Amino acid sequence: MSFVLDAHCHTVASGHAYSTVQEIAKHASEIGLELVAITDHSDKMPGGAPLFHFHNLNVIPQKVHGVEILKGAEVNIMDYDGNVDLDDYTMEILDIVIASFHPPCIRPGNIHENTRALINVIKNPNIDVIGHPGDPRFPIDIKAVVAAAKEYGTLLEINNNSLNPNSFRAGGTDIIKEIILECVRMDMPFIIGSDAHISFDVGNFKYAEKLIGQLDIPKDLIVNTSVELLREFI
Ligand SMILES: [Zn+2]
Ligand SMILES: [Zn+2]
Repeated sequence: MSFVLDAHCHTVASGHAYSTVQEIAKHASEIGLELVAITDHSDKMPGGAPLFHFHNLNVIPQKVHGVEILKGAEVNIMDYDGNVDLDDYTMEILDIVIASFHPPCIRPGNIHENTRALINVIKNPNIDVIGHPGDPRFPIDIKAVVAAAKEYGTLLEINNNSLNPNSFRAGGTDIIKEIILECVRMDMPFIIGSDAHISFDVGNFKYAEKLIGQLDIPKDLIVNTSVELLREFI
């Protein structure tokens, strides 16, 4: 299957990532991607980008090395009501917003608390994607989350990094598989994200591709196959 976009990439502005926008775009161009999203961590993540980083993203050209650049953020879910650490105005002016659970920002709750948080985030019209919902440290009611994602048009991410056995989030392969299968049952597209923290990992979906290859997934449910399909959700 051929993928044309990666909507989850971190630059040096995240504090624990190691490439620039130009390096990310260059690698994306070399591997034939049409679009990448720059989604640096917002500031409640230790080392994350300050508010003005997100207000100044329009200095980045729309295309770099021939690759379209979406200007976005990966915001932190701060509580089980689904509040996040970036204000509505800032999220509105961004092209794409991912919201994720990160342990420095929120203690993993029980399945009811985590599910309530994600459903409230899904209902937020400024948030486009739930990042790495298959994190085994944050158990969720998969059926309820996928149903809400479908109702409100928010994408769930299959995070390549979560499937890396060396990841902080390792051990969730069965959960991630269940999320994919529930999306297929509900006819709800999902998006694969590299979560690259260095340019060489941009567009690296190798673990996700292996898992998807074992399942029988219609191409039109994988958002990475079409920029147009992504635009329907952001
Ligand atoms: Zn994350
Ligand atoms: Zn990330």
